[in-house]
Amino acid sequence: MQKMGKLYVVATPIGNLTDLSQRAQDVLSQVTWIAAEDTRHSLGLLQHLGIATPLVSYHEHNERERSLALIEKLMSGEDGALISDAGTPLISDPGYHLVQKAHEAGIQVVPIPGACAAIAALSASGLASAKFLFEGFLPAKSGRRKRLAQLKDFPATVIFYEAPHRVLELLEECCDEIGRERSACLAKEITKKFETIYSSSLENILARVRQGEIPLKGEFVLMIAPPAEKPESLSEVAEQIRILQILMAELPMKQAVQLAVKLTGHPKNALYELALEIQGKK
Ligand code: SAM
Repeated sequence: MQKMGKLYVVATPIGNLTDLSQRAQDVLSQVTWIAAEDTRHSLGLLQHLGIATPLVSYHEHNERERSLALIEKLMSGEDGALISDAGTPLISDPGYHLVQKAHEAGIQVVPIPGACAAIAALSASGLASAKFLFEGFLPAKSGRRKRLAQLKDFPATVIFYEAPHRVLELLEECCDEIGRERSACLAKEITKKFETIYSSSLENILARVRQGEIPLKGEFVLMIAPPAEKPESLSEVAEQIRILQILMAELPMKQAVQLAVKLTGHPKNALYELALEIQGKK
């Protein structure tokens, strides 16, 4: 039986060409073909690297039909690579159909990791990073504000890509729909000469953009922090202590805590800690 080829999904630099790994260069020079979004753009990268592998065009307008032709090549034993203009393929870039069809055909898909603007931006943002939502581009016209309103209370950092001519609009929309005080970070031109990573409130970021201190040229990632957890007010804690003291005067601690949970709706662990403190002070 004919041995099938492998499909390599290769991340390319988002600005600084030295970010391309040695492994990525080896793969790009060894495969039979490279499917690229804009073959003219990628030819520049390949020429810079001295790689002569033929390029095949694969973009959002031909990806369905082109995927079938590329799958046939892979099934005939050819190894191929998928790249996009910059960064990681499939991340707000074409490639989904090809990778999906490759899996359906039983072809091995091998990721060659590298630059991704969203991950680079998040890693330098200073915003919560344990969990995040990659939202990518909002729709260009309708539905933008509605989506932002839906994301207002999302409990993790939300990452947007945006075209330079819409960054001001996006910041204004975020201020209106999410709140001017919300922490955020605008990352511009990552790995390039005019790289700027500015973390502050949405209001301050908008002001710097309006004043022209962050010129709206180049490529941008906007990240919005999750809403800050509301600290418990002193009066809420005082009320919990009062209830626990009354109950603990009549009942064993375990039962008192169980009842306090029902009465206040506060978490059992927190009330148990308070009960221990009250008992310790007796
Ligand atoms: N696949 C790419 C990736 O892995 O990041 C993203 C491609 S998407 C079509 C292009 C968008 O990514 C830009 O509009 C911008 O929002 C973001 N982007 C790409 N390169 C960037 C850079 N150097 N600095 C900031 N944002 C960048």
